[in-house]
Formats: sequence, structure tokens, C-alpha cells
Amino acid sequence: MNELEYTPLSDIPGIIDNVRHFYNTGLTKDLAFRKHQLKQVIRFLEENQMQLEQAVWCDLKKHRMELLAEVAPVINECKYLLDNLDRLAKPTSPKKWYWIHALDTTSVRKVPKGVVLIISPWSYPSYLVFMPVVNAIAAGNCVILKPSEIAPHTTSFLSRTLTGYLDRRFFKIINGSVDETALLLDQPFDHIHYTGSTMVGRTVLEKAAKHLTPTTLELGGKLPVLVTSDSANQVTANRITLGKFTNCGQTSLAPDYILVQRDGADSLVKALGESIRDFYGNMPETSDSYGRIINQQQFDRLKKMIDGADPDTVVVGGQISQDDLYIAPTLIYPASIDGTELMDNEIFGPILPVVPVDSVDDAIAIVNAKPHPLAIYVFSSQQDQINKVIQNTKSGGVLVNDTLSQVLDASLPFGGVGASGLGNCRSDNSFSTFSYERSIIVKSTKFESVNAVRYPPFDLDKYNVSRIALYGLPSCIYAKFLTIKTALGSFIAFYFGHSPPSVNSKVMD
Ligand code: NAD
Repeated sequence: MNELEYTPLSDIPGIIDNVRHFYNTGLTKDLAFRKHQLKQVIRFLEENQMQLEQAVWCDLKKHRMELLAEVAPVINECKYLLDNLDRLAKPTSPKKWYWIHALDTTSVRKVPKGVVLIISPWSYPSYLVFMPVVNAIAAGNCVILKPSEIAPHTTSFLSRTLTGYLDRRFFKIINGSVDETALLLDQPFDHIHYTGSTMVGRTVLEKAAKHLTPTTLELGGKLPVLVTSDSANQVTANRITLGKFTNCGQTSLAPDYILVQRDGADSLVKALGESIRDFYGNMPETSDSYGRIINQQQFDRLKKMIDGADPDTVVVGGQISQDDLYIAPTLIYPASIDGTELMDNEIFGPILPVVPVDSVDDAIAIVNAKPHPLAIYVFSSQQDQINKVIQNTKSGGVLVNDTLSQVLDASLPFGGVGASGLGNCRSDNSFSTFSYERSIIVKSTKFESVNAVRYPPFDLDKYNVSRIALYGLPSCIYAKFLTIKTALGSFIAFYFGHSPPSVNSKVMD
């Protein structure tokens, strides 16, 4: 049964109300509850791995090797969260600024945001659903999940099975398309986490503004690859080819276009052609390592991009098969910088334009003329050129001499900047995203005479004491105070024989 049943529009507000009532019981704040739900996600993934992978395969025809990325990182993220939840949720006690708080207890608590809405895309229909979900659970939230209707097999499978593992009172899946999502976005939430296109991201942010809902946007865009001529070789080509044609180019982190120094351009294109042949053979349509386009609409969009290119520049690939939603790994060379569908829009498919440029400075100018990307890839053995790119561009991240692999390291925040996104995610960062910091001060009732300095009627004495409390000692007095403090410290250290090792004492040792 793969037919995706949409949630009736009339049910949506009631579902959210019920979840909010459950949030108000406070049960999700209990760390034991959160840990149990995280363990249930792991159990779900372990018990249903084959069926889940099968569902994703039906949507995108990815090889099992690529399907690993849909499940394994999620299990690892859950394990990390289980191991670190006590630490992450622990209140902190920051250093106090003013002596007026000396007797008070101050702390910062990580409080769940509340009921969060998670909207996911179709390109990694398991991974991109679970990553925000498990982090929202870890932070103690109730979750309304809207997976993508464009990946109906995976979404349908998750809707039928996942809710059997998680507590249904705090986790709900709403299915649907634009109408259902629009209605969802009209409801008040405590956080919205949206992954998808920049265009829809704008709508999400506009709708979120109505309720002043904090929002994380994980968006798309055009990711450039900058290659200096010394790195126009087979290793570079292999790594670009992997990043570009994994999941048939339908990866937000896939290289979108290459800017290569002119004297290395021919060699790089030749090497890219060889990598494509090595990876997928002479007939990629018969390779089980090569996926398919998700649906007819995306296929038509990509076909239009190939049709719009000068046929002489389609140097590798270009073949398509509508019945099979197949588009061959395609290289366009030399591609013009702009004024074409290919260079003006995000490609998000297996077409790779290669643009020769005279210098790294020219490449930087091209990158900076476009909206800030999620990542910039640089292939070079020249440290000064790498530094130049890092210093003179803006992006969510930079990866040197590889593609995609930045997503593996959960210790690095993952997110865009400007048009490629707002906020970031992964483990500790996601925990912060899905919680807010609540300041708590418990004021001591003792020493009222000291506190009385704050109360009217004011006089000069109160003013002077308050002035010292707020501004500190005047700098001339403070300098004397420091001298006395240091002298006193040295005397005590000398007298009790605890002087810190000096250069001389080290030499004597
Ligand atoms: P999309 O924006 O079309 O859809 C994402 C979600 O939004 C879906 O659940 C969909 O139902 C909903 N939606 C679609 N149109 C809507 C509308 N008008 N109003 C309200 N909701 C709407 O994105 P997609 O096609 O699923 O995914 C591809 C895009 O996502 C690419 O641009 C890609 O770069 C980006 N992406 C980004 C990341 C990231 O981590 N930054 C990851 C994957 C994909």
C-alpha cells in the first residue's frame, strides 16, 4: 500500500490542539521520556531498516550503498543524543556580573520550545525527516511532522509504521501538499523547522512572522566548485563526480557548477568524463549505482535545462528517458556564466556546467554575484588561493578538496546563510535550536540593608555606593587596588613557599 493518504484539512487544527494539551502536561520535559522515545526511534530503524530502504528505493532508485546515508547517521545521532542528553539539558550557572547578586542563585535552564512543526523535502526522505525530529524530541518538544508528498513511498511507510513506535500523544504526522502545509503554517507553533527550496522558505518565513514563530530554514541554492589548474586532475574529478551524481544530483550539498582556471579546464572535463565512465559505465541507465529523478515535474524542469544549452556544449551525457525518469550524468562545457536557465537557477539534478575562468579572483567575483550558497567547494594545492576563497566569500561552510563529506561530522554546525538558510542544526546546535534559555534568579531575602541602597528616597551616599556597584572603582583607585592585591599575593606565596615556577626556577631545575 503506497497510496499516500492526505490528512483531512478539517482535522489539522484539532490535531495540533491535542498535541498542545499534551505538551502542557509537562511529560516531554522528563528526560526519561525523551530517552525512551529516542530509543524507540533506534528500535524502529533497526527493525524496519529493510522496508524503509525499500520505500526510499521505490521513490529514488538509490543503490543500497547510498541508502546507508538514510538510516545509519540517524541511529548515530540518536546514540549521541542519548549519551549527551544529561549534559545538554543540565542548567548552567553563569558567573555573576554584580555584587548585588552575590547572595542570589542564578541559573540558565534549557527549556523545550513547545510544539514544533517540521517540514521535510523529498530528496533524502528518511534522513531529512529524522534528523530534526530526533533533535526536537531530545530537546523535549512535541512534534508535528509534515513529510514530503513528493516521496510517497517513504512518506506513506513512515506514516503507517513510525507512529506505532512513538508516543502518539506527542508525535503526529500530517500528510498533504500545498493546501495542508499552508493550513499548518496558519496555526501557532513554538518553532518551525523547514527544509526545502528557497522559494517556499520565503513563504514559510512570512507565515511564521504572523505568530512571531522562531524558524529554522535549511534551504537550497547554487553550490560552486572552484578548481585551480594545479588540481585539475583525476582525484578532483572523482570527488566532484561523487558529490554531483549521488542521488542523481538531487542533493542540497551537490556541486551545482564548476569554476575552473582556464588552463586546467580541458584536463578537468576529460577527467570528469573518465570518472563518470568509471563510476557508472558507458551506459549509466543500466547501472544500479545510478538513481532516477523523483517525478515527472522535476524531470521536465531538468530536461528544459538541457534543451536550453547549446548542443555543442553537451560534452558528456545529455541522454534522457521519460518512461524511466532517467537523465544521464551530463557535463556542459564550456558553460556561459549567466543568462541561462542552468546558471541562473539551482539545478538539483545530474547536470554539471563547467565554466572556465581566468583566475581565482574572477571565480570569487562570480560566486559573490550570486546569493550566498550552503557551501563552497575548493580544489587546490595552493594554500594562499584556498585562504583567498575562504576570506573573500560567504557561505554556510567551506570544504577543501572534497564534496559532501562535511555532512558526516556532527560536531560541525550545518546550515546556510542568507538565501541558503537561517539557523543551523546537528546534535548540540540542534538541541539549542529546539530549546530556549530561561534565566532564573532566586533572590536572597537576607541583607535587606544592602538592598535598601536601591530604594527611594535617593541621596548622595546611595548614589555613590550604586555608582561603584555599577561602574566599579574609579580606574586610579582600581590600579592601586590591583598593585596592593598583587603585592599581597606575592608576599603570601613567598611566605608559604607556593610561588609559581618562574623562568629562573625552571633553569635551576
Ligand atoms: P519544496 O520547498 O518544494 O518542498 C518542501 C516541503 O514544503 C514539502 O513538504 C512540501 O509539501 C512543502 N511545500 C511545497 N510547496 C509549498 C508551498 N507553496 N507552501 C507551503 N508548503 C509547501 O522542496 P523540495 O522540492 O521538497 O526539496 C528540494 C529543495 O530543498 C532544493 O532546493 C534543495 O536544495 C532543498 N534542500 C535543502 C536541504 C538543506 O539541508 N539545506 C536539504 C535538502 C533539500
